[in-house]
Amino acid sequence: MKENNVDHIRVCPRCGQSYTEPPALSRYDSETLICPDCGTREALESIGVSVEEQDSIIEAIHRSIHNPR
Ligand SMILES: [Zn+2]
Repeated sequence: MKENNVDHIRVCPRCGQSYTEPPALSRYDSETLICPDCGTREALESIGVSVEEQDSIIEAIHRSIHNPR
């Protein structure tokens, strides 16, 4: 599962970081493309997860991406 279009860099309007992963659609206006992290944050936010909790979940996701198994 490797992305080949690494030259396709987007900048997330929500957090301002550039990313190459497939974008997520913002739940708030259904048209803004945001980075996967913000997509995860919005999803967690919508079910009432606190910011601290969001941070640790996203950190865990990053860890599993960088160290698969
Ligand atoms: Zn973002």
